[in-house]
Amino acid sequence: MNKATLKLSVLAISCSAAFATNAATTLFTNVDIFNGTENKLYEDHHVLVENNLIKQISSSPIKAGDATVIDGEGKTLMPGLIEGHGHLLMNGGTLNDHENNRTMEELAARATVNAHAAFQSGFTTWRDAGGLNTGLRKTIDSGLLEGPRLYTSGAFIGPTGSHADFSNLTTLNQHTYGPQTNMSRNNVSVNADSVAEIKSAARMNFKQGNSQIKIMSSGGVASTFDPWQLNAMSAEEIGAAVEVADAYGSYVMSHAYSKKAILRNLDAGVKTIEHGFMFDGDIADKMKEKDAYITTNMTAFSPYLTQIEAINSNPASKRKAESATKAFAHYIDNVNKYQPKWGFHTDCVGDVTSCIKQTDHTIYLAGKELGNFFTLKGMTSVNGEIVKLSGVMDPYPEGKLGVVEVGAYADLLVVDGNPLEDLSVLGANEKWFDAEPRNPELDSIKVIMKDGQVYKNTL
Ligand SMILES: [Zn+2]
Repeated sequence: MNKATLKLSVLAISCSAAFATNAATTLFTNVDIFNGTENKLYEDHHVLVENNLIKQISSSPIKAGDATVIDGEGKTLMPGLIEGHGHLLMNGGTLNDHENNRTMEELAARATVNAHAAFQSGFTTWRDAGGLNTGLRKTIDSGLLEGPRLYTSGAFIGPTGSHADFSNLTTLNQHTYGPQTNMSRNNVSVNADSVAEIKSAARMNFKQGNSQIKIMSSGGVASTFDPWQLNAMSAEEIGAAVEVADAYGSYVMSHAYSKKAILRNLDAGVKTIEHGFMFDGDIADKMKEKDAYITTNMTAFSPYLTQIEAINSNPASKRKAESATKAFAHYIDNVNKYQPKWGFHTDCVGDVTSCIKQTDHTIYLAGKELGNFFTLKGMTSVNGEIVKLSGVMDPYPEGKLGVVEVGAYADLLVVDGNPLEDLSVLGANEKWFDAEPRNPELDSIKVIMKDGQVYKNTL
């Protein structure tokens, strides 16, 4: 995408309301339905949307009075896509840039641009895995801005030196001197070093209206101080986050790489394991017992991995990546063998252009390694179940997400082609950094509906 088209797509944010129709009733005719849960298309169907929910699905024509009719022309109607783990507020540059050089104004403006681009790419719901609070959601939900539904975590919670620690080596100790980082002052990330501090941080996140809690219970690769093998939080500390989430009727999502950390999280009641690269048979059994989910960024298995700048530019990260790649070698085989409840996620922390490339490549990798149907379920119904774990903190409690079912939210796409056979209709691309930059809008996505409103219709 060149600068001019980027400008145009940003401009579209302000005049987008003009595209949205306010019809209370919309009838889709002549569509093949992928419902988000079954490995098949229901051919030649009709779908009636009343207000913001799906009212009727039928193989025979539906009479719907003065409904706005969209002739699907035999194309595929499917649930809007759901990002299972993204970071809208972390948007281009390095983590040090975010800490040292980004004001809240710039962080928020960039997040807005990324949210709009994700929406144009077909993502009608986005679970934010830490950093973003509720301001952007309120702005989108009030109709001022086009964007996905947002399930936010507020500040990442992790101990000093963990994957959530954005400070520099010269940063003063916050326990003595108060919040010392840009990230903690803005509730993007918080260092919490005891049961009491973790509870306080989790309560602060829910007080802000965030829907779930994100903890950093193990180390990572791109960050500075933490080895990926670090089991950063004790069982007691993880349990403290779970206790607060339980009290709010919600759940905890946990960044966890090592087997030890993953099992510790599941035992403590964490509902979604993030990344979970050491997934194996023991973990699969425990997940079944606990009715838990795993969501994974498949780019960890990309042939392009060594080209990631955050890893490449930092010798410590490069070393970490090498040992991690060896330790994670059995992930794909184990997921194919044990078929856990798996959610799609990109975990992109780049700007618009790079996140579109990363998302396209992630869809490709997931399809190639885990199969198209498994990937599509992960992008729709499974992620739809995951966001609903937020229970009473769910900002969108009226219907299900990620499925084409009567009573579900009318968050729908009409795509030109069968995604079960070809994920490129959703952007899948074998190339990553060397891919042609593209506009957020995909020609193959003909209709985007969210909450019963049509935001795009090129049929
Ligand atoms: Zn993440």
